[in-house]
Amino acid sequence: MAKLALLPTPIGNLEDITLRTIRYFNETAFIYAEDTRMTKRLLDHLGIQKKIIPFHAHNEHKMLEKCIEAIQGEELVVLVSDAGTPGISDPGFLLVRAAIQNSIQVECLPGPTAFVPALVASGFPCEKFVYEGFLPHKKGKQTRLKILSQEERTVVLYESPHRLAKTLEQMQEFFGKTREVCVAREISKFYETYHRGTLEELTNYFINTPPKGEIVVVIKGLGD
Ligand code: SAM
Repeated sequence: MAKLALLPTPIGNLEDITLRTIRYFNETAFIYAEDTRMTKRLLDHLGIQKKIIPFHAHNEHKMLEKCIEAIQGEELVVLVSDAGTPGISDPGFLLVRAAIQNSIQVECLPGPTAFVPALVASGFPCEKFVYEGFLPHKKGKQTRLKILSQEERTVVLYESPHRLAKTLEQMQEFFGKTREVCVAREISKFYETYHRGTLEELTNYFINTPPKGEIVVVIKGLGD
């Protein structure tokens, strides 16, 4: 039976790749990848040679039918994104849905993703949480923030470093200055840091110290 497997890849530290992910890379017929060059680099590091086919936000709709036909002819085909788990703020959902509709077995291996370590290390309740992904850049941002500010559960957002200070500042309007927040930066990398404080404190900090690298914002909910 044909199988599509989604493989999580390291979000920084290459040691985070799992033994099972490596085995699937070895066993797959070919690889669908968000960024073929990045995946080639990872495969070179692992000493694996495989055919890599681009599958990204700009071609996923167009590719879908062709992908399903191609997967149906193979025992195993894998999908990877640039980093972390495919489908989590990355392409993946459309292919998974189409595969299920076409009776293709779907599996996602457990592995790296940025929001889990950020959430767990934030120190905020993580029994229940909301993963929001990226906020809209302009239209709709205020509306999302207003809704999220009423959330009982811990909220997790992805944000780019150059928008971080502005977003924290805008959040104060809805969440208040004293809402507790944690900014996780460069998880699993050399410059990994966690900044914890109130929205006002972290806004001021990041206005004065513009951050670099990749960022997850975790906000304490109204509950607990
Ligand atoms: N699929 C990925 C996952 O499973 O987490 C997310 C891909 S999304 C396009 C990229 C965003 O994830 C970054 O802008 C950042 O918000 C977050 N991210 C990825 N790697 C990170 C890291 N090492 N440290 C902090 N955040 C990270």
